[in-house]
Amino acid sequence: MSYLFTPTPTIGLPIVGRPELFPVHRVYCVGRNYEDHAKEMGFTGREPPFFFLKPADAVLVVPAGETGRMAYPTLTQNLHHEIELVAAIGKGGKNIKAADAMQHVFGYAVGLDMTRRDLQNDMKKQGRPWCIGKAFEQSAPIGPITPAAQAGDIEKAGIWLQVNGADRQRSNVSKLIWNLAETIEHLSAAWDLQPGDLIMTGTPEGVAAVVKGDTLVGGVDGLTELRVQMA
Ligand code: MN
Repeated sequence: MSYLFTPTPTIGLPIVGRPELFPVHRVYCVGRNYEDHAKEMGFTGREPPFFFLKPADAVLVVPAGETGRMAYPTLTQNLHHEIELVAAIGKGGKNIKAADAMQHVFGYAVGLDMTRRDLQNDMKKQGRPWCIGKAFEQSAPIGPITPAAQAGDIEKAGIWLQVNGADRQRSNVSKLIWNLAETIEHLSAAWDLQPGDLIMTGTPEGVAAVVKGDTLVGGVDGLTELRVQMA
């Protein structure tokens, strides 16, 4: 048997200290998972976690020491940055309990949930899916994955983003409304988690627009920095 045309290649993320690539299966994203970001988006308090997805081929792989080049997407005048801790699932499962969840995490990376905010807001108003605002080409620039054992105390790590050298977002992973273990419990009740799945855990406050030519540098303490230029 042969394919009608060449299948889309699997997206592979570099792994710190290892020669293999991490093959990406799905990209799950958590919405409004830091209180101060929920507030800036017009919401308050702790609501049950909710999820959306980006296609695996929306990942823009940015190796260590390199600058990813993201083409400014079509249809938007308000492209927002959302810096996020990304968890990489190494062992799949369904109905995973929070107490067991961390055994399923292979490692962590720094990612950007780039968002066509004007289009997302239009969809919200109309009660329509967010895909056009969230799930476009190169909408998920992600850096190398650091294995969990080498990532330090990720649950208490600082998370930050600078644009052209100026602070835009600065918070701490400890401020997640739903921590990673709880997120995995909720996610795996709805979907069968697979090795290769990525979870973008949500962004802290300070989301704002970028324009062509901007340089974004983001980090989570203990992980490889992510550098992206808007082209
Ligand atoms: Mn996000």
